[in-house]
Amino acid sequence: MSLLPWQAEAWNRIRSQVTDKKVPHGLLLSGPADSGKSEFVEHLAGYLLCSNPAEQACGECSRCQLLEAGTHPDFLTVTLEESKQIRIEQIRDMINWAQQTAQQGGRKFCLISPADRLNLQSANALLKCLEEPPADTIICLVTSEPARLLPTIRSRCQQIVTHLPPRDVAIAWLQSRQMDGDLALLLDIAGGSPLRVLRTMDEEFLALRSEVAMALAALSKGQVSPIGLAASLASRDPMQVLDLAYSFILDSMKLEQAGQAPADQAGELATFVQAVPDDRRQSLLGRVCEAKSSLSGTSNANPQMLLEWVFAAA
Ligand SMILES: [Zn+2]
Repeated sequence: MSLLPWQAEAWNRIRSQVTDKKVPHGLLLSGPADSGKSEFVEHLAGYLLCSNPAEQACGECSRCQLLEAGTHPDFLTVTLEESKQIRIEQIRDMINWAQQTAQQGGRKFCLISPADRLNLQSANALLKCLEEPPADTIICLVTSEPARLLPTIRSRCQQIVTHLPPRDVAIAWLQSRQMDGDLALLLDIAGGSPLRVLRTMDEEFLALRSEVAMALAALSKGQVSPIGLAASLASRDPMQVLDLAYSFILDSMKLEQAGQAPADQAGELATFVQAVPDDRRQSLLGRVCEAKSSLSGTSNANPQMLLEWVFAAA
């Protein structure tokens, strides 16, 4: 993956540190979801591990080829396995790995993502490693929620922040990727992230988006019950349903306050605003957020019951 055009500034900063031989041992890469964190870190790891980097990794040396094939012995990813947290055993294994000499004779690069899922034990183990970093090892933490990391971990890392691109840059980039359709609308739906447009805005997604909008409009008019609605959406990905419900409710608030609505669901939004008073929309939004964190958290929530509970607030 080549560097995303809106990341050039962050990239030039870290690259000049590398050429000045001032590579930090700990990096914390944060930024909104789908702003290009994994693309950035991939680019950076390639550059730091390449035996002959220029503007970027050469892509041709044996180290670049190993990384491309996913078999570079000096590149390690620590991520969620069976658990919803990064466990201390994973960090201990990482530290053992970091203490070995690099097999390819260059640097070692460890990616920890999502770093906000380190539990307290694993975070403390990692902290010790960041305080006494093994030679030639870069540990890169990636998260969209840096505030959830221990302050002591944050302060041991150099921070790199990725942003969403300006609108014109985003649209030009989507055009360069042969995306067509109403790009401005798709970008709005994707919260301004062109990467999300590229990854998720297929026909299936757009169909689910209009299904959720129609369902919420029908719910607001009493044409369907919360239980009926949850049942009708039971076969869908519950997190995606909640995300879509979340943006629908937010859009309804924007419609009321600013008179603007995405063109593809203006009718449903107008119905919803008329039928559901503001305070109930607020509590509905609160429930959507709670349900989202239950689903991504450590409890084993029943998705259909969660949806029933959410929709009962409308
Ligand atoms: Zn190379």
